[in-house]
Amino acid sequence: PVPVLTIDGPSGSGKGTISRLVAEQLGWRLLDSGALYRAVGYAAGMEGLDLSDAEAVTRCAQHVKIRFHAAPDGQDTRVLVNGHDATDELRTETAGAAASAIASIPTVRQALVDLQLGFRKAPGLVADGRDMGTVIFPDAAHKVFLTASAAERAKRRYKQLKEKGLSVTLSGLQREIEARDTRDASRAVAPLKPAEDAVLVDTTGMGIDAVVAKVLAVVQS
Ligand code: C5P
Repeated sequence: PVPVLTIDGPSGSGKGTISRLVAEQLGWRLLDSGALYRAVGYAAGMEGLDLSDAEAVTRCAQHVKIRFHAAPDGQDTRVLVNGHDATDELRTETAGAAASAIASIPTVRQALVDLQLGFRKAPGLVADGRDMGTVIFPDAAHKVFLTASAAERAKRRYKQLKEKGLSVTLSGLQREIEARDTRDASRAVAPLKPAEDAVLVDTTGMGIDAVVAKVLAVVQS
């Protein structure tokens, strides 16, 4: 079978950056599953749906067209939602909160399963998310769970959003991140938790290169 490395963890644990760099190093494909939930939340918002209307949001998840377009060197992959480039909108904490809200609907999660499994193609896949090692790819050969303190995660997100020119406050961001984590960890379906066979990596105070090396060591062990 095509090898899979799952990288799960809370927001701001460094998953996105680490997954991209590790996939580059290995020459493997990348699945940013959070972007799928963000895209569904965004599409539902565009359609004016009530995000707690499980049936309507599920239909939206079944029909939404999500495309990833690789961008030239060093630039972010563009995400097209129903043909519209929503890359910048999807990055906001508003989109994160909408994603977290619709991600707690079991039928929405179900609607995204086949799409996610389809990313498993040779020579290998790095799957970034919350339930990659527990639900979507339980048979993955390599599993990592990244964590970091809430304060550190808020600081990282703050820096990221500032660089994009967005206006945010550190304290507001930390509150939002903690609220989202609590919801993700306490929901009934696919709660955020490490797979039993995942290697736990606490990235607090660690540089990106050191984390990448540690994750690559997991794949090579
Ligand atoms: O990782 P990211 O911050 O982009 O994810 C946004 C939200 O999507 C998370 O807070 C979580 O609620 C949801 N999500 C999920 N399962 C995944 C990936 C993301 O429930 N595999």
